[in-house]
Amino acid sequence: MARARYLHKRVIVLVFKFSVPCQDCKVLAMPKKKAVRKVVEEDSDLSPPPDDLLKEEPAANGVSAKTTKKSRKRKVQVEDDLDEEPKVKSTRAKKQKVQVKEEETAETVAKVKGGRKRKVEVKTEEAVETGVKPKKGKKHKAEVESEDTGEVRGEDNTVEKKPRRKRKTKEEKEAEAMPIAARTIGHKLLIGAHVSSAGGVHNSVVNCVHIGGNAFALFLKSQRKWANPPLADEHCTSFHANCKSHSYDQAQHVIPHGSYLVNLAHTDGERTKQAYEAFLDDLKRCERLGIKLYNFHPGAANSTKGDRQAAIAHLASNVNRAHSETSTVVTLLENMAAGGNILGSTLEDLRDIIALTDNKDRVGVCLDTCHAFAAGYDLRTPEAYEATMKTFEETVGFKYLRAVHMNDSKAPYDSHRDLHANIGTGFLGLRAFHNIVNDSRFQGLPIVLETPIEAKDENGVPLKDEKGKEKEDKGIWAREIKLLESLVGMDVESDEFSILEKELAKKGESERNRLTEQIDRKRNRLTEQIDRKREKDEKKAKSSRKKKGQQKEELNGDSADEGSPLR
Ligand SMILES: [Zn+2]
Ligand SMILES: [Zn+2]
Repeated sequence: MARARYLHKRVIVLVFKFSVPCQDCKVLAMPKKKAVRKVVEEDSDLSPPPDDLLKEEPAANGVSAKTTKKSRKRKVQVEDDLDEEPKVKSTRAKKQKVQVKEEETAETVAKVKGGRKRKVEVKTEEAVETGVKPKKGKKHKAEVESEDTGEVRGEDNTVEKKPRRKRKTKEEKEAEAMPIAARTIGHKLLIGAHVSSAGGVHNSVVNCVHIGGNAFALFLKSQRKWANPPLADEHCTSFHANCKSHSYDQAQHVIPHGSYLVNLAHTDGERTKQAYEAFLDDLKRCERLGIKLYNFHPGAANSTKGDRQAAIAHLASNVNRAHSETSTVVTLLENMAAGGNILGSTLEDLRDIIALTDNKDRVGVCLDTCHAFAAGYDLRTPEAYEATMKTFEETVGFKYLRAVHMNDSKAPYDSHRDLHANIGTGFLGLRAFHNIVNDSRFQGLPIVLETPIEAKDENGVPLKDEKGKEKEDKGIWAREIKLLESLVGMDVESDEFSILEKELAKKGESERNRLTEQIDRKRNRLTEQIDRKREKDEKKAKSSRKKKGQQKEELNGDSADEGSPLR
């Protein structure tokens, strides 16, 4: 009887425990799915679909409003299947663990978009340049945080609960899968964006349909972690199925981006092994997904102390080895913005890497317009554009151009700063993009936008949700795709073009001015530093000359004394 009473008490305690909503951990404490759904709906940061885009184009093959119902149904089915992965089902704790992992991935990929991506790229370049290995402690902490169930142990070993991120509801996912712009089927150019692959690579396909893109980039795994789970068979199958049902040829229209951590030019044994394994793993993922093009940053010549040729030789040997261990994927070198030891900031670097690659059919270039401009390759006027393309043809060769990253630049020409701007709002301006899209050499290549998509109000102030997280507006990509497509054949002397050009330039004016001032300040500081150092050196040289002169005089005086007749 006493035992029965005890058990009854325990049950009451347990029921109480699970029914009290925890302030820190809403999702865990919410007992009913419906309640979670409601909160997410209220939090939704989806911007309303831009009507102009939906009306503008006729329904496209495979992505029309009619077919979305069918694809939506299929997607829901896939999600249902994924929700019931055996490893997820095994225990409640394990399910929570996987859920957190997926949300971590979602967050990571989302952060890389737009403005934040710029931040990441710059940061990584700095890390590569200084050759700083990610701190073990930090890495460990990050992994622990992502793998446990959201609890972090403090130094005194007490458990503090971390606020848990909410998982997207099916309704929210469905809304994201609805196209906000129809694809322009049969266009000469294949334009899209670097879309999210949160929750699995198969989601990237639907994310591209959403913005009306005909090509896309994605990360095959977390681009900021070395350790990643293998590509799940279900995700691989869904990726193939999604590409098929939405008429994407993954061999031509998809161009994954490599990890920011990988520096194949690093000559240190351990570092090169780690980089090589991550690189090879990506190539193998591409082959399973039927993807033929893969883009990566060439790395940096830090471990060779600035010896570019030694770094390039090491990089090429890694690329050759990876080619021998795979069979179809073509590795594309991306041109870079930063100077110094960063490889790929000159076309000569790309030429030299290609020259040392054994299988020329499996190497190519992905041209980033922002990086090229910031590295000193002008594209603005038709004359400057032609001159740059001539240099490209003579140095690298158009036969190696296999993909494009289409970005304007917030930083001025030759500034070596990697800051992506929205099309027409940066220092490149709309004319540069008119030059590119009207060049037949770019037809048929995957063209990917890596432009910022922070949602802003009419005064240009970034919009945030109630938690202070920046809102995204994928309509920006949808509109940029349509803008670039409309530039083909547009008369630059027309009112249409000049109005567009002026409008976009005005939009980016304050940001361009801000960057110009920032860069000028930095340049002035550097000039001052150089001047001060020169003055100091001159003073030093003067005083040492003076000292030497005195010594000489003394010496001369002595010898004169010696030579003088004492007698
Ligand atoms: Zn890149
Ligand atoms: Zn890029």
